[in-house]
Amino acid sequence: MKIAIAGFGALGARLGVMLQAGGHEVTGIDGWPAHIAAINTKGLTVVKDNDAPQKYFVPVMPASEVTGTFDLIILLTKTPQLDRMLTDIQPIITDTTKLLVLSNGLGNIEVMAKHVSRHQILAGVTLWTSSLIKPGEIHVTGSGSIKLQAIGDADVQSIADALNQAGLNAEITPDVMTAIWHKAGINAVLNPLSVLLNANIAEFGTAGNAMDLALNILDEMKQVGASQGIKVDVSGIMTDLSQLLKPENAGNHFPSMYQDIQNGKHTEIDFLNGYFAKIGHQSGIPTPFNALVTRLIHAKEDIERVK
Ligand code: NAD
Repeated sequence: MKIAIAGFGALGARLGVMLQAGGHEVTGIDGWPAHIAAINTKGLTVVKDNDAPQKYFVPVMPASEVTGTFDLIILLTKTPQLDRMLTDIQPIITDTTKLLVLSNGLGNIEVMAKHVSRHQILAGVTLWTSSLIKPGEIHVTGSGSIKLQAIGDADVQSIADALNQAGLNAEITPDVMTAIWHKAGINAVLNPLSVLLNANIAEFGTAGNAMDLALNILDEMKQVGASQGIKVDVSGIMTDLSQLLKPENAGNHFPSMYQDIQNGKHTEIDFLNGYFAKIGHQSGIPTPFNALVTRLIHAKEDIERVK
């Protein structure tokens, strides 16, 4: 299958090399000049656990230089970048191109629906992870999985088969939005609170009121979800959180929002807590906790950018 990865950053690069190794023709689309130059001259360096670094040669270029058409475009920008990426890749999207979004957060489908028809859209959520260490180098660990569903009538089976040909552990689900909201709930707790408390995940877990803070966020999210026809399983999210807080799991890791703040980047807050606050406001559901968390993260973005 001809596959483009739109957003060849940490996770896009990991999935891209796996898809290429699985026999697909893969093109990376990215706009970061140093990253593109490093990959196209020396190859993408992938460091996995204690293994020797491996080099992979996947062509990577800005959207303006991509030619030809693709059976599948996997969208892996940060969520605030998705709209712009879809505008930039418009010339390479045809009626038969399928687009699978694996970015975190809520509202991605609405953004995609502004650019392509519903029969082209696949929504997904992934537990694969990756960290970008420097231009052209990612560090990866462990394994992952993908859940996906067609939003319209796209042939989701052929896409799942292509992903599984590359060992991506893809599973078609009849209710991907529940899975997306579940992951958004975990991220809506761990990401902003790690920033606001200046703590990694395990350190956050040592706060006596960590689980109360989580419930403040999740109880509001549950009511907002119900207004959208989504059943949010708060106790299931709390169970997952208590596992993640253990140092042997994700505990000693700083969530991506913490790293985005440190790097002076826009965070995904408007697509997590900010999304709950926005929909809550529109639907008459009070979301004071999520609204405050969103405002504090925006303040922190401004402070760090000016530093
Ligand atoms: P990243 O910032 O490393 O990668 C995004 C890439 O997109 C960057 O390299 C950037 O240059 C590129 N980009 C953005 N807009 C562009 C445009 N218009 N034109 C060209 N290039 C553009 O981010 P990431 O960590 O790979 O995460 C991507 C998404 O996946 C996020 O929503 C994140 O929350 C989600 N996610 C990440 C992980 C992980 O472990 N990294 C795990 C699960 C989900």
